[in-house]
Amino acid sequence: MGRNSVSILGAGLAGLSAAWHFQQKGSPYHVYEKDMQPGGMCHSRKVNGYIFDRDGHLLHFRHKEIFDLVRELLNDNLVRHRRDSWVYSEDRYIRYPFQANLFGLSRPVLKECLTEFIKARRNGGTLGKENFLQWIEGAFGAGIAKHFMVPYNTKFWTVHPREMTAEWLDGFVPQPSMDRVIDGAIHDSRQLLGYNSHFWYPRQGGIGQLAAAFCKGVRNIHTGFALKKIDLHRRRMIFDNGETREFGHLISTIPLPELGRLIPDLPADVARAFGELRWNSIFNVNFGLRQKKSSSRHWIYFPQEDLSFFRVGFFHNFSSDLTPPGRSSMYVEVSYSKDKPLDRAMITGRIEKDLRKVGILDSEDTIECRDVNDIHYGYPVYDRHYAVARRLILDFLHRQRILTCGRYGGWRYMSMEDVILDGKEISRRVDVLN
Ligand SMILES: Cc1cc2nc3c(=O)[nH]c(=O)nc-3n(C[C@H](O)[C@H](O)[C@H](O)COP(=O)(O)OP(=O)(O)OC[C@H]3O[C@@H](n4cnc5c(N)ncnc54)[C@H](O)[C@@H]3O)c2cc1C
Repeated sequence: MGRNSVSILGAGLAGLSAAWHFQQKGSPYHVYEKDMQPGGMCHSRKVNGYIFDRDGHLLHFRHKEIFDLVRELLNDNLVRHRRDSWVYSEDRYIRYPFQANLFGLSRPVLKECLTEFIKARRNGGTLGKENFLQWIEGAFGAGIAKHFMVPYNTKFWTVHPREMTAEWLDGFVPQPSMDRVIDGAIHDSRQLLGYNSHFWYPRQGGIGQLAAAFCKGVRNIHTGFALKKIDLHRRRMIFDNGETREFGHLISTIPLPELGRLIPDLPADVARAFGELRWNSIFNVNFGLRQKKSSSRHWIYFPQEDLSFFRVGFFHNFSSDLTPPGRSSMYVEVSYSKDKPLDRAMITGRIEKDLRKVGILDSEDTIECRDVNDIHYGYPVYDRHYAVARRLILDFLHRQRILTCGRYGGWRYMSMEDVILDGKEISRRVDVLN
């Protein structure tokens, strides 16, 4: 392999986007993917007539260049939706985001949330960035923290917000103005708020269509190539199918903790830094229902500790192409980690019981199809070790001429749009290095 050729590890959206941009420029590259099909997390499959994504995957755009690229790739197979999302609180459903839609809550809880919010804003809404709990209390006050933000985030991250920093936020948590919070407390406001107020989704075929569209413009994808070891000294990759490849520039999009395991004899400080990376995992179950559900909701958040799932979404409201006629389908997400282990033998039964408890399934409903996706690397946890450990690892890799890219390769909270952009940017960086 030539000195200037590029090897890309992983054919998820980040690897595919990097490869697609190299292809456009006529630069040589090869992509190595462990699975037999490219796409990574951006994947859909047909099960008993239902099209299931690996988990709910909706497109949001903040960068026009990526929006234009996705539109070009998917052509007219892309539809814009106005978000219809909810929060389950006090045995009822209120609109999302909680902080801007207090109206549906009981009077005592509404009063507590509103007065504490006003108090926090009067105190200047100090946005402490050291600690996510401080940030929440500064931005929303102790009431909203207690009734939604702290229980939801603890459940989702599997780590208490006081153990996390707020450096990942980047607009992911909507911060309404005082006017908007008061407005949402005195009446049922339908005004949308936040980065995901609208989303885009393929008309047909599920989110996997996006990865498939990238693949049409990419050559040299080698599937069934699971990296087993990197020999830094001889600059060789050894794969578990017995193949070996030399590399010039290497771009890794595989999860950073995996990469750490595959490089032998790491310096002690780098090995320690790898050991400090934390993440949550997502156990997602997709369900196909024999009945047609009438609600138009897209997804619902569940902060309650005694309910197994933190979010439930409804595929049939993203596209009618995802279910056989007259049917419905949904995804149910449970978070777990080393700190909060999952009981795999019990979880699906518990989910089904809880779906009935919160009224999503009723006595008429029959589940005719289940599809389990156990996602080991869900979200990197931004605890107090995160920034230093990540920096140390990336600097070490950089010195070995290994660049990282994407959500898991670069170990950051990133959306599909973000990783497509990251793939584009890494292709520019490598061109400069050449
Ligand atoms: C539960 C959940 C819900 C999400 N919902 C949304 C959403 O609604 N909207 C949104 O925009 N984003 C969402 N995301 C984020 C989105 O999935 C990611 O940003 C994006 O798909 C990541 O792409 P990637 O290429 O960085 O990683 P991946 O898609 O994980 O790609 C990495 C690739 O590396 C391969 N690989 C791993 N190990 C090896 C190895 N040893 N050798 C070779 N190959 C290997 C994997 O098989 C995979 O194909 C969600 C993520 C999760 C976990």
